[in-house]
Amino acid sequence: MKVENQIKKTIKEIGLSKKEKILVAISGGKDSAVLAYFLSKLGYNIEGLHINLGIGDYSLKSLDVSKKLAERLGIKLHVFDIRKSEGKTIKYFWRKNKNLSSCSVCGVFKKWVMNREAKRLNVDKIATGHNLDDEALTFFLNILKGAPQLSYNTGVVSRNKQGNKKGNFIPRVKPLFYVYEEDILKFAKKNKILFVKGKCPFRENSYRVEIERYFKKFSRKQKRNLIKNFEGFRGKLKGMKNIKENYCEICREACTDDICKKCKLVR
Ligand code: SF4
Ligand code: ZN
Repeated sequence: MKVENQIKKTIKEIGLSKKEKILVAISGGKDSAVLAYFLSKLGYNIEGLHINLGIGDYSLKSLDVSKKLAERLGIKLHVFDIRKSEGKTIKYFWRKNKNLSSCSVCGVFKKWVMNREAKRLNVDKIATGHNLDDEALTFFLNILKGAPQLSYNTGVVSRNKQGNKKGNFIPRVKPLFYVYEEDILKFAKKNKILFVKGKCPFRENSYRVEIERYFKKFSRKQKRNLIKNFEGFRGKLKGMKNIKENYCEICREACTDDICKKCKLVR
């Protein structure tokens, strides 16, 4: 299926409405750039959110490209600067939590910022550029960890019980969920979409990166099969429905414990 048709099909499955306000997480990379391009081309009411992590030149370049992309698409871009909010860059928090990979620390912050900003901006949904390769790899990793239930909350729409704008968690949607990474790259090049080339210098040799090297050798069919298995499996995870949904005692942000993951990292 053509990339355009696949994205349109997923958007329909998600049930995105043009009346909703959607916050697109724009990192400067190809996936979120294609997502923003596509949603704006289709006439959705989108605004962008860029999170400046303070990773030296890489973050400067990402911010610059995100601003240019937003300008070209004619959309508003909100910039959240971790250094201004927390007084430190992501590197500091990563060093403080050496038992975790840099991407895990970064991921916790990004989710925290996205939900917080989405509520502040009163949006209906958050859209992220996760693609089929990202999702299949995550599911594969969770199986290898012996914890496939960790995939419970993922999918084209996040499965938070109070997933509406009045609840704790703003629903996160992934319109590129069924699109292969290589197809996104081709689409971005073909349509001359602006994105940052090159890798984040913080992407260390974590377990995920190690498994990813092996995963990259998988065929398209094998990756697609992982997603199919995930979908079949996900519906059976009934026991996970009783996840606690709370407000963090420290930051008052949505979480599933007494203290959110982000506050645990900065303590
Ligand atoms: Fe953060 Fe990892 Fe992405 Fe770098 S590669 S921006 S550390 S999640
Ligand atoms: Zn908190």
